[in-house]
Amino acid sequence: MKMPKSVKRYCPYCRKHTEHKVAMAKKKAASSLTWGSKYRMMKRGKCTGTGNRGKLSKKAMSGWKRYGKKSTKKTDLRYTCGVCKKTHCQREGFRAKKIEFT
Ligand SMILES: [Zn+2]
Repeated sequence: MKMPKSVKRYCPYCRKHTEHKVAMAKKKAASSLTWGSKYRMMKRGKCTGTGNRGKLSKKAMSGWKRYGKKSTKKTDLRYTCGVCKKTHCQREGFRAKKIEFT
């Protein structure tokens, strides 16, 4: 799907319509996460003192879970205001195989 690089959109910070740059959100590195699965794994190891209760000896997720079955992904667009340079997200993503900014 083709998307325009910049659109005129409402900016909640300027409280009016301004020119916005559109970009896909980048995936964050696992090491930069401070909460969620990484922290939970550390906690589970600590509570028994014996390790991760066999969680790491499980097969890869693709073997036992319906993983990667969908061919499309929901978009996670970020709009950066050209006036105040602040970024906000889209309200709801839509499904698309590939997003191109033209
Ligand atoms: Zn703004």
